[in-house]
Order: sequence, then structure tokens, then C-alpha cells
Amino acid sequence: MRILYVEDEKFLAEAVKHNLEKSGFDVDLAFDGEDGLNAALDNIYDCVVLDVMLPKLSGIDILSRMRERKKSTPVIMLSALSEVEDKVRGLDAGADDYLAKPFKTAELVARINALSRRPAEMQERKISYLDLTYDLDEKQLNGVNLTTKEADIVHELMKTPEKIVKKEYLLNKVWGGDAYGEDNYIEVYMSRLRKVLKKLKSHAKIMTVRGLGYKLVEE
Ligand code: CA
Repeated sequence: MRILYVEDEKFLAEAVKHNLEKSGFDVDLAFDGEDGLNAALDNIYDCVVLDVMLPKLSGIDILSRMRERKKSTPVIMLSALSEVEDKVRGLDAGADDYLAKPFKTAELVARINALSRRPAEMQERKISYLDLTYDLDEKQLNGVNLTTKEADIVHELMKTPEKIVKKEYLLNKVWGGDAYGEDNYIEVYMSRLRKVLKKLKSHAKIMTVRGLGYKLVEE
């Protein structure tokens, strides 16, 4: 499960990230409201954890803008002021849950797990780029079934289209920690995926950025 945690207290952010990772989550951090909003809009997360008091944009601003943009990712609001008013504002803005600071990581983990058990239609399960739509549940690209690894690669490329996805990152993400020596596999998978795109007559193509990685671009 991939979590975004937006928190300006870096020490706290790193500590919570560390603890969440021990519980098996992948955690991205953002330290101010703007970075947090961009990360929330540009990526697919299973859950977004927002501190209320943040530089540049508040947690409530981030949440409102996410909902305006039809991002339905579950959101947990955090606030040092455990006041009813704050809680009400957060929930009004579309938060799914609320946790008062200070909190125990175990509590946060329980809340995240509870939200992720909600019905699938509550969460975003499709990503689109140009004429492509990838269905995360079915592992289908425009209705074409993909193997697990093909699907994982497509998922990574489509999360950040037109941006380089580093080869090491892909290896790590798709093949896991012991990806050493698997470099050649990636090329094999990319050429298979290029064939799929061709078959779909897509306007998107997978570009190789020599020495760096791959990116999905418009042909
Ligand atoms: Ca704060």
C-alpha cells in the first residue's frame, strides 16, 4: 500500500514514515502544502495523510483541491489542535477520518487499514493517459490482459507520464529488492509492451532514455 504523508515537522515525518514502513507501507513524504498537493494529484495513493497546519497550503486546502479535481483517495487529517471545530472543518472538506496529534503509529496504521477495506468503487482504480486506460484491478490496458509484471510496469509508467521512470526504480518496484542482474528482463518486457501499444494503435509510446530509464510519451 502506498501512502502519502504531508507533514512539515520533518523529524516527526521521518519517524512516522519509518514506523509505517515497518508495517509494510510504501511512504512518500511532502513537507509543505504545495508539494503535498502536487504529489497527491500526480500519483495514485491508497491513502493520503494530511497535517492541517502546513506552510503554503493547509491540509484542508489540499483536501478541498483534491476533491475539486475528483481525487477520491481516502484522506486522514491530523491536527495538533484536537478541537471539535478543526475536526468538523476537515470532515466537511471531505476527509474520511481524523486523528488528533500526538498519535501512536499503531493507531494511524489501524485507521489506514480500515479505510483501505472500504469498497473498491470508493477508490480510484483506473489511470488514463492519452488514449490509454489502465485498470488496476483487472490488470488490463484498454481491455487487454497484462501479466503481473507487465501490469506493474504499465502502472509505474502511467502514474508519471512524460517523466522519466528510472530503470533502477522499476527494477526495485517490479522485481523487488533482489533485482540485481535482471536488467535485461526489463528490455524484454518493454518490447512486449510496445507491441501491445502498437496493437492498440495507441498514440502513446514507451521511449527509452539511454542510461536512465523509460518514459511514456505522445508519439
Ligand atoms: Ca504542522
